[in-house]
Amino acid sequence: MNSILEKIREQFPALSQNSHGRQLIYLDNAATAQKPQTVLDLISKMNGKINANVHRAMYELSDIATEIYEEARCGVAQFIGASRKENIIFTSGCTAAINLVAQSYGAEFLKKGDIIVIGADNHHSNIVPWQLIAQRVGAEIKVLPVTKGGEYDLKELESIITEGVKIVAISHISNILGVINPLDAIISHSHSVGAVVLVDGAQGIVHQDINLSSLDADFYTFSTHKLYGGTGHGVLYGKTELLEKMPPFMGGGDMVDTVTYKKTTYAPLPLKFEAGTPNFVSAASLSPAIKFVEAIRGRGSSWLSGSNKNLQQAVEAEQKKIIEYMFHALDNEVGDVEIYGRPGEDLENESFVDKKIALFSFNIKGTNSSDVAQILDQLGIAVRSGLMCAEPLLNSLGVTGAVRASFGPYNTIDEARQLIEGLKRAKKMLY
Ligand code: PMP
Repeated sequence: MNSILEKIREQFPALSQNSHGRQLIYLDNAATAQKPQTVLDLISKMNGKINANVHRAMYELSDIATEIYEEARCGVAQFIGASRKENIIFTSGCTAAINLVAQSYGAEFLKKGDIIVIGADNHHSNIVPWQLIAQRVGAEIKVLPVTKGGEYDLKELESIITEGVKIVAISHISNILGVINPLDAIISHSHSVGAVVLVDGAQGIVHQDINLSSLDADFYTFSTHKLYGGTGHGVLYGKTELLEKMPPFMGGGDMVDTVTYKKTTYAPLPLKFEAGTPNFVSAASLSPAIKFVEAIRGRGSSWLSGSNKNLQQAVEAEQKKIIEYMFHALDNEVGDVEIYGRPGEDLENESFVDKKIALFSFNIKGTNSSDVAQILDQLGIAVRSGLMCAEPLLNSLGVTGAVRASFGPYNTIDEARQLIEGLKRAKKMLY
């Protein structure tokens, strides 16, 4: 194994454990990522020592907790290119962030007959909140389809995103297809008809640099636990002018200016949307988590003792090898495999490796995805199976489930090879 990857892996204690008596091969990173020691240490320090509620008290410990919490917000703003830290709302996850926009922006600005466009590849958390608000206000839902290769079909933009569309809610990268979507074209076309755009970045933020000053999305959402940080926490980025005119989503402590029995005035952004005690422990964990992400993208202060450029090169080279190998081996070594999200099918000259993350959803023809996942589990290989919160997409692909192997920056080509061996064995057992 590449010695740099070995060093990275040493920083993730969960990776060195056994499962069913074998070395664990963790390939469910799209569901939740493992946490580096720096994140675990910070979580332990926040719980064990700096455990005081934020924004509330006059004593030193609360001040320190508040400072760490707000530093994390500044770090997120910088990481995603938001112009102000007030654009960053902390929520309990990506799901909560999308619901916040649907229930606040949607309830305030949608009316009967308006249209909401959702991506065909959306996760349930970027479908159901829109159905709830559409039912409440009498809005209609339309679907932006994906091509055979698995990215949004730009040929359909003009016929689907028309006058009357008020919200476009799409995925940066689908949790099933793993294809990097062409966001710019969709955002600029949506704006030209007067719609606002929400991008679900739950998978995108993990794999792609984003700069919201240039991307021009109106809302961008993600979860901390998929980005190597703590659970029960997420981020909503919103443009200032939109967040300012949106009403609060929940009422409670911390989101108020003055309260009387009759009337309340609200705190300025971002606290207007942060009612109640936030998950300040997981919020704080974003700082070391982002430091890790910056390091594997070749930036920031040295994360292991060497240069971050070396980390970047090692991780990128391994991911590229995994993507090329997986396509080849699923087709040629396992065989009878249907892969969902194969950007090569749309591209003639571009490299598919640049369009796809190391996430593979597939079926061995004639087998049940859960049976395959169970066989892999016995070999210590953790993958997902079933509907994976994207039932409409899987239905449109003509299947009722799929196996998904999603690789993280600490996974290796050797683990990919063991997965393929496991799949060959599963096929033999199930055929
Ligand atoms: N969107 C996508 C694309 C996802 O993959 C997920 C998690 N699987 C979510 C949204 C929801 O994230 P969470 O459950 O952390 O709120």
